[in-house]
Amino acid sequence: MSDDRPTAETADATGATVAEPDASAEPDPDHDDGATTTGTADRDELDPADASLVVEDLAKRFGGIDAVDGVSFSVERGTLTGLIGPNGAGKSTTFDLITGVHDPDGGRVTFEGRDVTGYRTAEIADEGLVRTFQIARELEEMTVLENLMLAPRGQSGEKLLNAVTPGLRGRVREEERELRERVWETLELFEIDHLAEEYAGNLSGGQRKLLELARALMVDPSMLLLDEPFAGVNPTLEEKLLDRIHELREGGLTFLLVEHDMNLIMEHCERVIVMHQGQVLAEGPPAEIRSNERVIDAYLGEDV
Ligand code: ADP
Ligand code: MG
Repeated sequence: MSDDRPTAETADATGATVAEPDASAEPDPDHDDGATTTGTADRDELDPADASLVVEDLAKRFGGIDAVDGVSFSVERGTLTGLIGPNGAGKSTTFDLITGVHDPDGGRVTFEGRDVTGYRTAEIADEGLVRTFQIARELEEMTVLENLMLAPRGQSGEKLLNAVTPGLRGRVREEERELRERVWETLELFEIDHLAEEYAGNLSGGQRKLLELARALMVDPSMLLLDEPFAGVNPTLEEKLLDRIHELREGGLTFLLVEHDMNLIMEHCERVIVMHQGQVLAEGPPAEIRSNERVIDAYLGEDV
């Protein structure tokens, strides 16, 4: 852990977000009327104070490929924002750069006013910015319950350290009890409590997606990045997941969602960012994006 960082003055952005709906957060799909002239990204639209996440000029090269090539956008706090683009557009790499999976070659990531560029994934999770990860092989051999019990510690080195420090065992035991309660609440939220004792490796594709989301929530995020969370999920379960996502958003969570299904994005997201060939092609409300010529061109010949 680096010790030169300020302590958690932004911690209020996490915590009780689920319990306290923001009365002023009524989404207004028309609030961006008047900005319909151009499809290019216009970062100045959003008051920086309202942005949870700000990405500036991010860049990543793999060999000769500019996977992410000067990407800038902001995500407004409390919104469900979509990130779309044809295969290979750089969406997943952008997520990797935001969440410390890869170090960017250039650019900056600011989360709730704090520069988190170059932070490790666990440090970024401690700030409240969390992405879902596929259930790793080791976790397949553990039960759903164990997966959730381990989730917060798996992402936070500090908590693990506390657990092994002598003299803290009493507190750890208390935390263990609270953790167990939260685990069961989360299992019930996703209606997978009946699978608590099942091995993660035995879950169906859709159930796995629920577990991935549940694990991410155990870290108590204020913002979640979801990379194709509905891949391989049947329509019924997809609806259920979307309901959960909307509930959590109404409770104050911010979402950035990568999804292939354009209709789903248009129906559910308040704002949409479109990437193409490592760059942001357009950013705006769904209606504007849907009719944007550059976006339509980018998707021509794509199987969407
Ligand atoms: P998307 O998620 O939009 O489909 P990606 O971010 O996965 O796009 O990929 C963007 C580009 O970067 C693609 O050309 C892909 O092949 C390349 N790429 C992604 N990850 C790596 C990697 N680890 N090594 C080399 N090339 C990569
Ligand atoms: Mg991808």
